[in-house]
Amino acid sequence: MLYPNTYYASTAIANSPREALTGDVKVDVCIIGAGIAGLSCALALIEQGKSVAILEREAVAWGASGRNGGLVMAGWAKGIAEIEKQLGLAQAQQLFSLSSRGVELIRDNIDQYSLSHCDVKGGQLQATRYPQREKLQAQQRQMADKYQYSLDFLETEQVREICRTKRYFEGLYSANAFHFHPLNYCLGLAKVLEKKGVLIFENSGVDKVTSDGINHRAVTTHGHIDCEQIVFCGGGYTGDEAPSLKRSFLPIATYMLLTEPLGDLAQQLITRPISIMDDRRAADYYRLVEGDRLLWGSRITTRNQTDEQCLAAILRKDLCSVYPELASVKVDKSWSGLMAYAGHKMPIVTQTQPGQWLCSAFGGHGLNTGSVCGTLVAEAICGINRDYLQLAPFGCQWNGGALGPIVANLTYQYLRFRDKVQESGVKSRVIKFRF
Ligand SMILES: Cc1cc2nc3c(=O)[nH]c(=O)nc-3n(C[C@H](O)[C@H](O)[C@H](O)COP(=O)(O)OP(=O)(O)OC[C@H]3O[C@@H](n4cnc5c(N)ncnc54)[C@H](O)[C@@H]3O)c2cc1C
Repeated sequence: MLYPNTYYASTAIANSPREALTGDVKVDVCIIGAGIAGLSCALALIEQGKSVAILEREAVAWGASGRNGGLVMAGWAKGIAEIEKQLGLAQAQQLFSLSSRGVELIRDNIDQYSLSHCDVKGGQLQATRYPQREKLQAQQRQMADKYQYSLDFLETEQVREICRTKRYFEGLYSANAFHFHPLNYCLGLAKVLEKKGVLIFENSGVDKVTSDGINHRAVTTHGHIDCEQIVFCGGGYTGDEAPSLKRSFLPIATYMLLTEPLGDLAQQLITRPISIMDDRRAADYYRLVEGDRLLWGSRITTRNQTDEQCLAAILRKDLCSVYPELASVKVDKSWSGLMAYAGHKMPIVTQTQPGQWLCSAFGGHGLNTGSVCGTLVAEAICGINRDYLQLAPFGCQWNGGALGPIVANLTYQYLRFRDKVQESGVKSRVIKFRF
């Protein structure tokens, strides 16, 4: 099978496999990786008249971009409060507005190119796992005052009107966020790119990149591309072709599950067609697709668990902890994907030497940020602006080598423990109150 066994692959638009690269091709810009970052970069480049080729090891959006939760919202993997603390308000405001531009880029592309079967639906609820009224209200005020971003505060009863679970308390609702079918978006975008003249080669993994300081060569098994500029967009699947990038992120696995059709039970449990995310450090996030199937995402690990049955069992446990009514539903599919995370949790968008660009490490917030960062690199290459420098404070940092995954795992386990402690505080208060 070309694509992994996901909900998205089973509902993908018609898509013929593309040829692998053979022989010698010459273009202005070569992009490595046909995920959302690489495709967005290519679009902005071709619109400026550059000749562009994309080399993809597997197939268009085979990586994280074609198998994620499909939640598109402003912000970065590193929370805006943390960014503000590190860089100050003015820079945080600029970065927040870049992240919002990423949301609009996707929305605009869907409209402008009439991309079909993207199944766009608006709205996102962030629900809390323990009462945090004041904190959420303060967050709502700050987002409005400092970032001109509107969120609605929902009381516990209002949240539970939308998600019929006792697990949740207050929430913040974003009308600007939306969810969609990310694989169909990328496949549609790839077709648009090809019509505009972008060359896309599949089954064309780049083994190495050579450079004489002015021109660059991306080498695959059966050919090579010579170019003036090269952009590395390999995400969590980046290999030894980009050593400086590989040393600067950790591939982190995360997981999704699709239930069988739930019939009326679906709308009884989730009453609006919005996406929902909780406030755990590694959040659970989900939405209904096809009206009555639940698409659920949770957990992160440093070892990629790919056994479908094992995944189904683990994720079902998470799902049922929120909706015990679903204990006996059948899991139709479960899958994993790799995200690239830098230690600073921000993307790595930088020029490492003249004409060589890194555009990666979007973590679990990559749909809007991958779109905007790919566009920023293209704009820099075309001399339109140097806005990518707003990300300069977060360059390449060593990922910790062999210790990196161990530290990441320990950190995750610790954060999960803290989540559990905070949530069990609620449970014990409820129990004390009852008795
Ligand atoms: C299960 C899951 C759920 C997620 N949910 C969300 C969500 O709801 N919202 C959100 O905003 N983000 C989400 N994310 C994160 C988001 O999907 C990613 O951050 C984003 O898609 C990364 O895009 P990318 O283009 O950098 O990488 P990818 O989409 O991974 O694309 C990289 C591509 O490069 C190719 N490649 C790598 N090396 C080479 C090479 N040497 N030669 C040729 N090709 C190469 C790979 O095959 C791959 O196709 C999720 C991620 C996962 C895994």
